[in-house]
Amino acid sequence: MCKKRKPFDPGKPSEFKNKHHLFPTSRYLELKNKPDNIVMVPYNEHALYHALFTNRNPYECLDYLVSTFWGGRIGYLKDFLRVYEERKKNGKET
Ligand SMILES: [Zn+2]
Repeated sequence: MCKKRKPFDPGKPSEFKNKHHLFPTSRYLELKNKPDNIVMVPYNEHALYHALFTNRNPYECLDYLVSTFWGGRIGYLKDFLRVYEERKKNGKET
């Protein structure tokens, strides 16, 4: 995350976005300015993301979801990846 956590603010419009680092710069300083590590995300969704995932990297987020919420079932991930790749191949990105 983003050094200072921004609180959820119900008054923020959904168009208001801020930077999110896929690999948190608190742990991966070398990735701080790498464009591939940065996405612009809606402010409030960003706050909620970090409330749930803290400063986990994408692999750790998936591990957390699989182990905490999905009972170790990874079939959903496999199905999702297969469909996602097909959509991408056909020019229909999410
Ligand atoms: Zn973030």
